[in-house]
Formats: sequence, C-alpha cells, structure tokens
Amino acid sequence: MNASRTACSLPTSRLIDKHGRSVTYLRLSITDRCNLRCRYCMPEKGVKVLGHGEILSYEELERLGRLFTGLGVRKIRITGGEPFVRKGCLEFMERLKTNNPGLDLRLTTNGVAVMPHLAGLKRLGIDGINLSLDTMDPDRFLDVTRRDRLETVLLVFHEALRMDIPLKVNSVVQVETGDEDIVQLAQLARDNSVALRFIELMPFSGKARSDLCRGESLAERLERLFPGMVEISSNDIETARKFSVPGFKGTLGIIEGESRRFCASCNKVRITPAGLLKNCLYDRGVLDLRELMRSGAEDQEIEARIIDSVRAKLVDGHKVAEQQERLCEDSMATIGG
Ligand code: SAM
Ligand code: SF4
Repeated sequence: MNASRTACSLPTSRLIDKHGRSVTYLRLSITDRCNLRCRYCMPEKGVKVLGHGEILSYEELERLGRLFTGLGVRKIRITGGEPFVRKGCLEFMERLKTNNPGLDLRLTTNGVAVMPHLAGLKRLGIDGINLSLDTMDPDRFLDVTRRDRLETVLLVFHEALRMDIPLKVNSVVQVETGDEDIVQLAQLARDNSVALRFIELMPFSGKARSDLCRGESLAERLERLFPGMVEISSNDIETARKFSVPGFKGTLGIIEGESRRFCASCNKVRITPAGLLKNCLYDRGVLDLRELMRSGAEDQEIEARIIDSVRAKLVDGHKVAEQQERLCEDSMATIGG
C-alpha cells in the first residue's frame, strides 16, 4: 500500500474527484430483499429480487471492503434492502471490522430482525445504527410498511439505547405524514439522547415528491411545530441539518436529499447488491465491480478503475439527473438509501 497512513491507521484518501472532493465514505448495500414493504420503496407484491449468484458474495464484499479502505475510505455503512434478511450479516460485519482496523462501521436498518444480533453488534464495536421509523402509531406503521412490526422496532430502539449504541432515527416524510406523526416521533428525541432526522421523500417508483404539498418546507413545518428550535450545525460533510429544541435531550434534523443541498460536500459512493459502483444516488452505476472481480482482475487493476471512476464524479445530483431520462432503479432498496 503506498498511501500514507493517518492516526486511525487508515490511509489518506486516494479517491479524489475532479472537483477536489475526497471520497471517504462507502455505503454498501448487501441485499435487495426486505422484510417490510414500505409504500414509497416497494410494491406489496411481485417484487423482483436478484438471484443468489447475482449479488456479491461475502468474499467479494470483503475484498471490496479491503480495497476501498486501502484507497482511503474510513466509514462503511451496511445497508440494503434489509441487511439482516441476509444470512451471515453479523459475521460479515465482524470480519469487516476486524480486518480493517480503524474502520468506522455503521448500519442502516428497519430494526425488524435486529434484536437477536444487537449484542453481537455491540461486541464487534458498531459505531452507529440508523433505525428507520416513520410513525409511532401502530395503524399508520402497518399502513406505511404493510407489516405489523412497530413493537419489535421500538424494542430495538430502547435496547440499543440501553446498550449505549449510538443511534439515529430516520423518518421519511410523505404526504400522509401528519403533524401528529412528527410530534409523536419527536418525543423520542425529547426523552432520549438521539438524533431524529426527517427525510425528504425522493421520487423513486414514479412517486412525486410530496413533502412540499402542504405549502411549507420541512424546515418551516418543524419551526411551526417546535417553537424555539434553533439550527445548531452546518458541518460540511453532514447530510442532515441539525436543530436543538428547548427541553429535548436529543436533536431534530432534516435530510434534504431531494433538494440535493449537500452535494457540494459529498464524500460518499455506493455499491449496489449486484456490485455496481455509484458515484451518486441518481446515476445508473459507473463501474461494474462484480464483472471486474469475476473476470479475474487483480487488486491493482480494480483499484485503478475505482480511482478513475470516482475522479469522474459529477458536481451534483442535478447534473447527474440531467444526463438521464429518468431514474433507472425501481426502488431505493436496490441502492440502500
Ligand atoms: N431497509 C433498511 C431501512 O429501511 O433502514 C435499509 C435500506 S432503506 C432503502 C434506507 C433508507 O432509505 C431508509 O431510511 C428508508 O426510509 C429510505 N428510503 C427508502 N425509499 C425512500 C424514498 N423514496 N425517499 C427517501 N428515502 C427513502
Ligand atoms: Fe425495506 Fe427499507 Fe425499503 Fe422499507 S425502506 S421496504 S424497510 S428497504
């Protein structure tokens, strides 16, 4: 390895795009399968899933983990589909953490199948869990996810807090999301030291953006619902705007993905379950890593192709979308959020 090492034992990034941004963050989607059917993400029936031979094997994923950390990635987020629907997820994460010292390893999950693995996640030193939860109302939960699993998700929330696992809660705001949903969810951040982030709905599966339908932006809505709310950070590589609210132990946040406000400081790339490298949520994939690995490419060649692909990263998501007729994916589950 010829890159210089930092104090945390990972190298400084060799992944630099033509706009001067360093890529240090990889979102690794390990499956397109899921145990929920969120309305904004998947249809109820007839979900087309990849065959076992089509998704990257754990061996291939570990190889990519090693190559990307060797190139300067410091943070990997495991996502899906639902990561824990795939057998062996915990053991894979353990190996990733052990084999890449200093790696910041995180998980995005709906929580449904996580409870039996929570102690293992704590043991391996997970650096954070993002739990997706759109409502505290059991009927609304059933309506949004088409499954009756709210209780299980809330158990995971409380158990992760008890174990001192750093926790964020992500809530997608849809047109059906009422003020009462937002206020009830906010109680999680009022009573606990967690970051609750409201996410702009992105128009996958042909759905129009809906969070603005009420004639106010998400920020305006939160300001109305939580008087005295103050913006507390504009950290360059945070994708969320963060707010404090008087009397809250935790914070509220907004992820303005659809507005694409955070592109200027974007430091991440994604890999889909089928091994496509994506420079941007909105691109169709810039490099077929599965094909490259399965054709017998050596590490050095793969590294060079990754460096070249990242260098070509476009300036923002608007530019990427302009170059395409429409989003190619049917669902966020094939990208990992
Ligand atoms: N199944 C896991 C979960 O739900 O946390 C991980 C994968 S999921 C695709 C990752 C994140 O993307 C979730 O927080 C989910 O709410 C969000 N998401 C899915 N579809 C979305 C959409 N159309 N717009 C905005 N966020 C979306
Ligand atoms: Fe599954 Fe996550 Fe998509 Fe919901 S958002 S259907 S939990 S992948």
